[in-house]
Amino acid sequence: MASPANNPETLLEALLSIIEMQIVPLTTAGVSSGSKLFGAAILRKDDLSAVTVATNNEQASPLLHGEINCIQQFFSTPDTTSSPRPATKDCIFVATHEPCSLCLSGITWSGFDNFYHLFTYEDSRDRFGIPYDIEILQEVFRVRAVEDVHESDESLARRPLYNRRNKFFTAKSFADLVDEIPGGEEEKRKWRGKSEG
Ligand SMILES: [Zn+2]
Repeated sequence: MASPANNPETLLEALLSIIEMQIVPLTTAGVSSGSKLFGAAILRKDDLSAVTVATNNEQASPLLHGEINCIQQFFSTPDTTSSPRPATKDCIFVATHEPCSLCLSGITWSGFDNFYHLFTYEDSRDRFGIPYDIEILQEVFRVRAVEDVHESDESLARRPLYNRRNKFFTAKSFADLVDEIPGGEEEKRKWRGKSEG
């Protein structure tokens, strides 16, 4: 039987529902205690059920982003014979916001081969007033090519900030998933509307 994780429409529906029903209520509590509104969840690929749902806890530590908190909680749930914890390769990782460099590394080190995000770095910067995802990748990780000819600012600026498809994971935004849904523009517009709302 085909995995529901391979059906973009089923997957998008499950991811939107997890965000709406499970992450948003958690983040609301987090935001009122002074944290920002970031959250993440881990789902089983085989039935798209949620294994772990978490929000950020930057009041406790600046490293406890939603994704990192979620990974920590996932690995701290007991892995018993009667209730085994799924392997990370058998799970889907979803984040409300495109993961920052710290979380990209956390997701990679934990062995997830995918992640999905609702908002992009540009959304974080323009809609949420958080420019650091882009700035840290640019300032810390991006190295100008100097081998043959000194790389121009324009060429440097055109380069993607990270490899969205690499040997460890494939990253997709919800908009990428909408584009994968078969059907006409009508169908895609409906889903774009759902992701925006
Ligand atoms: Zn992060």
